[in-house]
Amino acid sequence: MTIGMDKPRVIVAPHSGFCAGVRAAIAKVQDLLQKSPKKRIFLEGELVHNKTVNEELFRQGVQMLPQTCGELRVDDVVVIRAHGITQKRREQLHLLGCQIVDVTCPFVQKIVHEIVTRPDHHILFLGDPNHAEVIGVTSFAKNITVCSGIEKLSAIHLKDSQRYALLCQSTFDPQLFEEAAILCHKKSTEIEIVNTICPATKLRQQGLQSLYACDAAVVIGGRHSANTRRLFENLQRHIEQLWWVESPNEIEGVRWNLYKNIGIAAGASTPSEQIQMVREKILKSLDDVVKIEKVPFHS
Ligand code: SF4
Repeated sequence: MTIGMDKPRVIVAPHSGFCAGVRAAIAKVQDLLQKSPKKRIFLEGELVHNKTVNEELFRQGVQMLPQTCGELRVDDVVVIRAHGITQKRREQLHLLGCQIVDVTCPFVQKIVHEIVTRPDHHILFLGDPNHAEVIGVTSFAKNITVCSGIEKLSAIHLKDSQRYALLCQSTFDPQLFEEAAILCHKKSTEIEIVNTICPATKLRQQGLQSLYACDAAVVIGGRHSANTRRLFENLQRHIEQLWWVESPNEIEGVRWNLYKNIGIAAGASTPSEQIQMVREKILKSLDDVVKIEKVPFHS
């Protein structure tokens, strides 16, 4: 940026940050910490996919539940994370006799409901097979094929004698799901399309449109966050200079003054403070450039 040139605009995509499911899960654990300060609270898996949020909970005394369940006492509390868990693990936990607090997001529970109410269908499920939510919800199905993308789905032969249902991970890309639905209808008339993308994902994906004209953007969110990955992949189709960061420190040294419009988007488990910190860091670096350029030259 040279003197006289407009300062770059910094735009935060609408709906960036915490979704209702993440907000409710964190609020529930905070409530437990406050109301039962003497109880041991264990998390069954990361509560949400955000390092800062999880570290803050550990700092307040919350612990991760070991796979073996360790030596749990009846007055301990086990919190089932927002992404949910497998049917088998759920049964194991109930046998332990301690207090179970289930903060599985209602939209993840809805996917389980759509699966278990179709026992005669073969479920075609679009999503990341290694993601906690997918591992959890698909464990409730009798007959299921998980496809990581449309390529795998298109390679599947559908039998005339079988009823099918197409479902997906709550954070799946809405546009890709539409394409998958069209593909499935071409393959079989005996297929039900059940769009299980959650409203928060749809809103965040729509909100990205306001960044398409940017020449650089930062996506903030955990490396294991599926919805952050989807935001990043969406923006990759429109913006050349793109960063995926977990914390504001990772944008150190970027020359933001080279760009005209800088976008910021954040996943559903990113706290608003982190969005604010990234925004302020970019604005400060732009101000610093102006200050340097205004320093008079002495020979
Ligand atoms: S992203 Fe959607 S499914 Fe996941 S916790 Fe948030 S609202 Fe629930």
